[in-house]
Amino acid sequence: MVWAEEVAAVKDNLQAIDFKSDKPILAMKNLCKNYQLGTVEVQALRNINLIINEGDDVAIVGPSGSGKSTLLNMIGCLDRPSSGKYHLGGQDVSKLDDDNLSLIRGARIGFVFQSFNLISQLNIIENIEIPMYYQGLSEHNSLERARELAALVGLGDRTKHRPSELSGGQQQRVAIARALSNDPLIVLADEPTGNLDSESGADILKILDKLHQEGKTLITVTHDDNIAAHSERIIRLFDGEIEKQEYKQSN
Ligand code: ADP
Ligand code: MG
Repeated sequence: MVWAEEVAAVKDNLQAIDFKSDKPILAMKNLCKNYQLGTVEVQALRNINLIINEGDDVAIVGPSGSGKSTLLNMIGCLDRPSSGKYHLGGQDVSKLDDDNLSLIRGARIGFVFQSFNLISQLNIIENIEIPMYYQGLSEHNSLERARELAALVGLGDRTKHRPSELSGGQQQRVAIARALSNDPLIVLADEPTGNLDSESGADILKILDKLHQEGKTLITVTHDDNIAAHSERIIRLFDGEIEKQEYKQSN
């Protein structure tokens, strides 16, 4: 099925709430993910039907074990569904092999993790440059862009420092700059403030809010309703299913 028909088919399964904007960048249809744990099968995601539109600012919330990270990893092409469909940016990515998934990831996804995941031997600029290196950008261009991104997250004066010389909040800002370096279709953040004190956490949320205001599509996983309140759209998971979705009134 072509993209337009695929989206129309997903729409048939959904409520009008999913179509505030009409520029879908991803669609999931009856998507399931099972994990085999010994003899037990865990249904981490069950019949997910979801459309996310360009410029959306989404929080995925739910109790621990409800499938938030599994859903985010699926959106970010870190994993494949056990059944069902996933289209990202007009392409069916449900059945791609690992190499092709990683190509898509490199080109379209920016990841921010709770634990920052910076490379300790590299300085700030080098960490930010990694995705551009894999995209084959010239050294000159990637250096220039990495400097701009460091400045964007407020670290323009610290480019030679290594991660161990930075606070947690500063490390997460490097991770955000790195996530932006391939100019991704979507920025995905899994508990981005989970390892931070409340002040640095608030700084990170401000940067993410700003990205959304500038038009980036942002999906944040959190177990914290106060953090979810920053987002315009909230998707609530329970036991691997979408329990509820809400749009906040825009202010
Ligand atoms: P959350 O992020 O909401 O805490 P997860 O998506 O991490 O939830 O996990 C959802 C369910 O899937 C849990 O029951 C978890 O134990 C299980 N699960 C997640 N990843 C794996 C895995 N790699 N192998 C087996 N079970 C997993
Ligand atoms: Mg999780």
